[in-house]
Amino acid sequence: AVEDVRNYASVSHMFDGKPKKMFIGGEWVEAASGKTFETSNPANGDLLGHIAEGDLEDINRAVRAARKAFEGEWSKWTPQDRMALLLRAADLIESHFQELLTIDTLEMGAPISRGPFMKQMIVGAIRFYSSQVFNTAGNTRPNSLPGDFRTFTLRAPVGVVGGIIPWNSPILSQWWLIGPVLATGCTLVLKPAEDASLVVLRTAELLEQAGLPKGVLNVVTGFGPTAGQALAEHLDVDRIGFTGSTQTGQGIIRASATNIKRVQVELGGKSPDIIFADADLDKAVPGAAMAVFANSGQVCFAGTRLFVQKSIQEEFLERLQAFTKTLKVGPGIDPSTQLGPLVNRKQLERVTGYFELGTQEGAQLVVGGKRLGGNLADGNFVEPTVFSNVHNDMRIAREEIFGPVISVIGFEDAEEALKLANDTSFGLGGAVWTRDLSTAMTMSEKIKSSTVWVNCYGIIDPSVGFGGYRMSGYGWKGGPDQIEGFLYQKNVTMNL
Ligand code: NAD
Repeated sequence: AVEDVRNYASVSHMFDGKPKKMFIGGEWVEAASGKTFETSNPANGDLLGHIAEGDLEDINRAVRAARKAFEGEWSKWTPQDRMALLLRAADLIESHFQELLTIDTLEMGAPISRGPFMKQMIVGAIRFYSSQVFNTAGNTRPNSLPGDFRTFTLRAPVGVVGGIIPWNSPILSQWWLIGPVLATGCTLVLKPAEDASLVVLRTAELLEQAGLPKGVLNVVTGFGPTAGQALAEHLDVDRIGFTGSTQTGQGIIRASATNIKRVQVELGGKSPDIIFADADLDKAVPGAAMAVFANSGQVCFAGTRLFVQKSIQEEFLERLQAFTKTLKVGPGIDPSTQLGPLVNRKQLERVTGYFELGTQEGAQLVVGGKRLGGNLADGNFVEPTVFSNVHNDMRIAREEIFGPVISVIGFEDAEEALKLANDTSFGLGGAVWTRDLSTAMTMSEKIKSSTVWVNCYGIIDPSVGFGGYRMSGYGWKGGPDQIEGFLYQKNVTMNL
């Protein structure tokens, strides 16, 4: 194990054995308490290193630094200056991408094979945000009042933003906050998840190299109930951007009441994926499988409720089973791996618990359903799993499992598919596979979720973005609409 860590050291100084510091006010600092926590590799349990354990005092320091930067030199940067910074950052992230990807894979497990897609997505998002620096203008209207009034609006940066992100894709999700903050002239205190902090710290180093002024981005590593809670409650934070579970999100909304912060919450899901009999099954079978098995099911909008029209159910299940058996599970660092480990022991217990529950509830296990042993026994590996004969009221069809588990539910016609698809408390993603344009349109209009895909899954154009609905949250990430949330509008009325 020690040898492995030495090998990682050649990948990045993130694995050099020295405790990793936090980034506050442009300085790399230890936690005020002096405490650290361990981070390990979910593929084999190896210790990767120690990270500063920030808490209330560190959050206070970081918010002070972010406020100082917001009121200081940073406020004088022109939109062009911020655009140039974002473009330099995009180039640096692009040229260091393999290192960032490897850090992320070693710490949270996702396959390194996701690299090309992620690179395009992340570098594309940063370059898109650079184009948004002028999306901060107000507007003027002709006077409609009796008298010589002139009225116009200004849009100003909202101030200090607190960001709290999960472990399932920090390499990407940090940018849904850093990007709009830099585009609008806000400042940020970012708290990454305890299971995946290293890639965020390395990104902060690269941003420093790109010329980021002190205090504009601060990274406080630490635990949710201490550092995260302190940030959500902080009286001098103007906005919170949270991505994580619905339960934690509810707490974030309550905590934001302390000073009526603006809040954006992107939460969990149980997204419907609907296969009609006329679908191109050569695309729909792998598409529906990877809509759940990508990142071992640890994706917020995974299409975990798979509705299949009954006339093709038998054939579909056979093909889905055959495809699932071809998938390679293993350490994410192996380029041929398609499913990596689950992020930690807690997730492993949770997912294997649902394997048992599915059978107890009367669903039929089609394929998978076991933890993997042998040379994978030290990691958190499970088989990609499909249950059929699932009813929408079973817990495996209602609760977010966050693991590679598909629940197949049959339907007769579009009306029934829609009724079942919308019978959930969530509203994040969803897809329809059909060759019929009218079916595609109608389902896109009527599925109650923030994103609908037709004949594809999980594709997000960063210049459009995505959001949440119902218990999957509210707000928007990416695209021009997100910028609004980082600004506040003023009405200026002049009596001339
Ligand atoms: P989580 O809610 O446990 O943790 C998310 C973040 O919140 C972490 O940084 C954690 O430290 C912090 N946190 C925990 N308790 C806190 C508290 N009391 N106060 C403040 N912060 C706190 O979620 P997770 O297990 O890390 O991530 C998985 C969840 O995230 C899933 O539900 C998934 O669907 C969701 N998710 C949603 C999206 C989206 O865009 N909608 C994207 C990715 C993940």
